[in-house]
Amino acid sequence: MEILRTEDLTKIYGKGNTKVTALDNLSLSINKGEFVSIIGASGSGKSTLLHMLGGVDRPTKGKVYIEDTDIVSLNETQLALFRRRKVGLIYQFYNLIPTLNVEKNILLPMLLDGRKPKKEHFDEIVKMLGLENRLNHLPNQLSGGQQQRVAIGRSLIYQPSIILADEPTGNLDRKNSEGVLEMLKLSNKKYKQTIVLITHDEKIALEADRMITIEDGRISSDEVINK
Ligand code: ADP
Ligand code: MG
Repeated sequence: MEILRTEDLTKIYGKGNTKVTALDNLSLSINKGEFVSIIGASGSGKSTLLHMLGGVDRPTKGKVYIEDTDIVSLNETQLALFRRRKVGLIYQFYNLIPTLNVEKNILLPMLLDGRKPKKEHFDEIVKMLGLENRLNHLPNQLSGGQQQRVAIGRSLIYQPSIILADEPTGNLDRKNSEGVLEMLKLSNKKYKQTIVLITHDEKIALEADRMITIEDGRISSDEVINK
């Protein structure tokens, strides 16, 4: 079953002689539960694509459907709710709130909505991520690998349809990168989470079920990975 589709997605930044076509009529379809990696050289348009898929920014042209919702047509308020509830975003530099402890950082999307999570679900995520003994710590009291696990926890708390991760291991050493990758794989298996993982590390990209290569804002290859 399809969960995400783009049609002729195009993003142009700037104009005149500073004009950059970051995405060039890119069409793609992803099924529910797929673990897809996106690989490509720096500047090929990977982050731009993720921002369009997550409703962080709007395309110049083209469509993005998430679970049959045309997200380009949503207004700002609808888009903010969509981002908080339907997609989990994970970035290279964690994007945690420095003044909130681990527990509150994980719960943030729900706190912003004035909602309370189910305790069992929260406990299960914390246990899976190995953060049981860090709930009262602040982000700057954690290692990079732990901070990224908090960010993964935050992205999972709403059980969103899709997790979008932009170079989540880009700032981590090999051991912590493997840990983060394992967590993403686990959430893919356990919660049937659809995952789109951007990386420029082919070794990591090959751990996905499917690898899409982007060049100059276009898909240059799209392959199933046999393991
Ligand atoms: P990647 O994530 O693959 O490294 P990006 O999607 O960040 O690539 O960038 C694709 C292209 O768009 C690059 O040429 C980049 O310089 C340009 N670009 C990205 N964001 C902006 C922006 N906000 N304004 C102008 N140009 C941008
Ligand atoms: Mg990028």
